[in-house]
Amino acid sequence: MLELRIEGLSKTYPNGVKALQDVSLTIPTGMFGLLGPNGAGKSTLMRTIATLQEADAGAITLGDIDVLREKDKVRRLLGYLPQEFGVYPRITAEAMLNHFAVLKGIGNPKERREIVGALLRRTNLYESRKQNLSTFSGGMRQRFGIAQALLGNPKLIIVDEPTAGLDPEERVRFHNLLAEIGENVVVILSTHIVDDVSDLCSQMAIISGGRVLMSGDPQAAVRELEGKVWRRIVAKQDLDDFQRRFTIISTKLVAGRTVVHAVGDSQPDPSFVPINASLEDVYFRYTRANGHDAHPEQKGQAA
Ligand code: ADP
Ligand code: MG
Repeated sequence: MLELRIEGLSKTYPNGVKALQDVSLTIPTGMFGLLGPNGAGKSTLMRTIATLQEADAGAITLGDIDVLREKDKVRRLLGYLPQEFGVYPRITAEAMLNHFAVLKGIGNPKERREIVGALLRRTNLYESRKQNLSTFSGGMRQRFGIAQALLGNPKLIIVDEPTAGLDPEERVRFHNLLAEIGENVVVILSTHIVDDVSDLCSQMAIISGGRVLMSGDPQAAVRELEGKVWRRIVAKQDLDDFQRRFTIISTKLVAGRTVVHAVGDSQPDPSFVPINASLEDVYFRYTRANGHDAHPEQKGQAA
């Protein structure tokens, strides 16, 4: 099975920002979630794997390919949906996808027509194929982005924050599409939305401040927290006091009231009730505990 290995990858931008700091990850075949707040270094890592930018130090291998040196070999196996896709011209979806297929080297017109048609069907855009991309909704654009990323049967698929800005219905559609991409392919999905990972990914990493804070099986990470998450409702004026006294991993408004989650091996105080741990608790525990401000937005909302 194909495996992507990242070892000791570091990148400092000319302005001094350390976007990646000694990142090591093993990414197996299947759907891998790269979860982290804005500015964590996700896109930097994705672009580096996609051979679009250089690292300062470290190594990446895909199977027996040296990714940082054998760029052409990687590109032949790669499907990439960048965070800023930005190509929505006044040209139909079908014509644009056909154009991308030419660029991918699919030279035979009959074969190309079949491949383009099949991808448009797979991404549920066949009915809209004669429509200009400039008129597509956010969800349709992202599905088109996946269609172009799937051209040429890639073995490594990188999708960078594909669900940001999608409404809940579009997100579900997009999740279903990603879930179908299938076996024998390494898929890396970067996101700041915990639900993307819990819905889709069998392996994950949390990154923040350019560092890997955890990696592994999301369900195992949740199990590890089981029995250690506590909840209560706090009045606004008491919040600071609670944050000083307890290990608070998240505070959020639920129906106008502030609900806090704390972690601890035992009940923090009698006012807290035990709750089931979730991947969101795992995420906040890692990102908060390391002094990084986790993304303040709530579940299900876009950036
Ligand atoms: P993410 O995708 O997780 O939001 P990025 O990889 O885009 O994170 O950015 C990581 C950090 O590097 C951020 O602090 C960002 O401002 C900075 N950064 C990204 N690209 C550049 C660049 N071209 N030049 C300078 N700083 C950059
Ligand atoms: Mg990004």
